[in-house]
Amino acid sequence: MKFPTILSALALATVATALIDDATRIDTCTQPGTVALTFDDGPGKFNDQLLALLARKNVKATFFVLGMMIDQDPAQAAALKKMLDAGHQLASHTYTHGNLDKMTDVDQRTEITRTADTMFKHAGVRPAYMRAPEGNCNEACVKVMNEMGLVVSHWNLDTHDWQYTALSPDDAVTKSMVDINRDLVNNSNPATDSFILLEHEIHQFSVERLAEKVIDAVLAKGYKFVTMEQCIGKPAYLAGSTVPSVAPGPLPSGNSTSGVVAPTGSPSAPVVSGGPKPSGTAAAPAGASGSPINKNQNNAAGFVKAGAWAMGLVAAVGYALI
Ligand SMILES: [Zn+2]
Repeated sequence: MKFPTILSALALATVATALIDDATRIDTCTQPGTVALTFDDGPGKFNDQLLALLARKNVKATFFVLGMMIDQDPAQAAALKKMLDAGHQLASHTYTHGNLDKMTDVDQRTEITRTADTMFKHAGVRPAYMRAPEGNCNEACVKVMNEMGLVVSHWNLDTHDWQYTALSPDDAVTKSMVDINRDLVNNSNPATDSFILLEHEIHQFSVERLAEKVIDAVLAKGYKFVTMEQCIGKPAYLAGSTVPSVAPGPLPSGNSTSGVVAPTGSPSAPVVSGGPKPSGTAAAPAGASGSPINKNQNNAAGFVKAGAWAMGLVAAVGYALI
């Protein structure tokens, strides 16, 4: 019977397309030669130091911030506007830094909306990019995030800086540069490769020592720094934000010191008074340091592509049998 075969092949092809459209999780930029430098778990107490370094290097980064870090200290809340004013992108790292895969759909949504609400209160933005704590966001989680308009932002290059905080700064930097040297410096090509690079702003050695070394290695290899918005080409902020996204346009020309496109419009936003008081007691993000590595985190990004590829293959076989 040819007709049912055709129907099943079409159905499979539709499913494959739906997998690509409905559950998207990214770990590289769309254009080769680009590196998105990302810092998680802040705003933290080294944020001013990090902003000074990035200004000196003329590099724009993306900060995946935690709602609880914003609400625990007015100074950390104020850091949001400093980052925006300096041309960096703000993104969500959830509110509590919990494991999204162990939460209900409702709790996953609460993590996102609670963080977006406090980001909007203090900086006028509702981010369109999120990163799951420790990379834990399975297919069901990715679907929820995508339904909320969020780009699930994984990474393909990790400094592992949170693992080395007990070492001397020299040893920690050396350890953290292992993957950078192997994957980027020695085994990549800006003509074909791109990276989303993971670092954390709450570790002193990472801000004071590692970040500059990473930046210099990336530039020496011939890559250009981009924000996540430029990396993926989707606006940084959701509708309702008072800070306009940078229109995804051409990448900065020359090396990154020629400057990444600055945000347009005023980054200022009304600060709503009378919101929830900072607790002042929130601890450092759970799992931000010393937590076990999710062994799947470097491979999980491929599951959507692999699933879609497999379904496409089955569909192609279905067509071949007609
Ligand atoms: Zn984190």
